[in-house]
Amino acid sequence: MDKIKMTTPIVEMDGDEMAGILWKEVKAQLVEPFVDLKEEYYDLSIRSRDETEDQVTVDSALATKKYGVAVKCATITANLERMKEFNLKKMYRSPNATIRSVLDGTVFRTPILVDGIEPLVKSWKAPITLARHAYGDIYRAAEMVIEKPGKVELVYTAEDGTEGWRLPVHEFREPGIVSGMHNLDRSIEGFARTCMNYALSVRQNLLFSSKDTISKTYDRRFKDIFKQIYLDEFIERFSSAGIQYEYCLIDDAVSRAIKSPGGYVWATQNYDGDVMSDMLATAYGSNAMMTSVLVSPDGNYEYEAAHGTVRRHYYRYLQGEVVSTNPMALICTWSGGLEKRGELDGSEKLRRFGRMIREAALQVIEEDNTMTADLARITSRSEPLTVTGHQFIALVRDRLEQMMAAEWPEEYR
Ligand code: NAP
Ligand code: MG
Repeated sequence: MDKIKMTTPIVEMDGDEMAGILWKEVKAQLVEPFVDLKEEYYDLSIRSRDETEDQVTVDSALATKKYGVAVKCATITANLERMKEFNLKKMYRSPNATIRSVLDGTVFRTPILVDGIEPLVKSWKAPITLARHAYGDIYRAAEMVIEKPGKVELVYTAEDGTEGWRLPVHEFREPGIVSGMHNLDRSIEGFARTCMNYALSVRQNLLFSSKDTISKTYDRRFKDIFKQIYLDEFIERFSSAGIQYEYCLIDDAVSRAIKSPGGYVWATQNYDGDVMSDMLATAYGSNAMMTSVLVSPDGNYEYEAAHGTVRRHYYRYLQGEVVSTNPMALICTWSGGLEKRGELDGSEKLRRFGRMIREAALQVIEEDNTMTADLARITSRSEPLTVTGHQFIALVRDRLEQMMAAEWPEEYR
């Protein structure tokens, strides 16, 4: 069989520790034997970021803007401990934060559902994708401790120095605290558009939640912007795709999430998304089974696993211990990236192959009853075979070869 050709490069962002080891294996075993890989490679491992004073991260993000699709391995975020460990020149920003600020994107998180790993919520049959607005609110708030009686006001001063208006926040008679937060129409609009485009691309209903009954100006603005963009730009496309947009109060959205069968996109404000993404990841079964894609308003995609570098496993691996690390989310990262590359380039071959990698991996769990230790611990199946990440990838390779032999259309060979 001929290797599948690519017309546009995919951007690869390599990473660290256990994730880095499995990442390279996924590429060598599941991608390179089948695809004539055209790529721009960026080494985002901590040493390479340190050598380039983090320029490599910026370059990889710019390349993503240029080519439109990237796949990223988990990377170490520098902190004091890591600075000592690697003797770093600086405490670099988290690569994800750098990439997000270049692409100005929204992160969509979707769990991988497998037969035999039951979500804690029994009604869930399909994944709920969570989109978190990643700008402003309490994450950029100005906060103050009030120690003595006095009044706090919100004051707006125009650029020319004239005072526009002032609003009392509270007359303090005793010690307390105060917080002032903001957001920007442009950021909310970008978020709304990205969520609507994403819902269209996966053909699922979109729900946006906030608390506009209480926050009658702030949250109301979010609600109005979503509605306006929907009416102005999306209503027809949604209706021809057979999907719906709906606004919903956050409390109602939470109770619906627990009662529904899943299968929709849930757009949230910053804090709600922070909290709810952890709730969903845990309730769907395993952190190692969560995928993530950063989508920018102008249509660039960066795929990654939601988990980190799995440092604890890596240190044990370095000691020569046998560790069983789950490569499923890393496999789905390559799968999603190649599928999207194929879709954008109009290459049905590449699109189909990308999806096949994921199907092969699911079959190893569902049909061979074979999985890594994290899943074996929680599965409802009897007597699963527990393997290492390395063995799991080898089994996916076997499956993939069988599937290619049986299902790959004659005209593609
Ligand atoms: P982590 O790498 O996600 O691992 C936390 C724990 O979750 C692991 O020790 C393991 O539990 C379990 N786990 C996660 N992924 C797994 C997998 N694929 N297979 C099996 N078990 C898995 O989080 P962390 O230990 O807090 O962070 C380690 C490094 O990753 C840090 O330097 C952090 O900065 C970085 N990080 C990067 C990203 C990113 O690049 N997107 C995201 C998060 C963290 P057991 O040990 O109990 O088996
Ligand atoms: Mg959180």
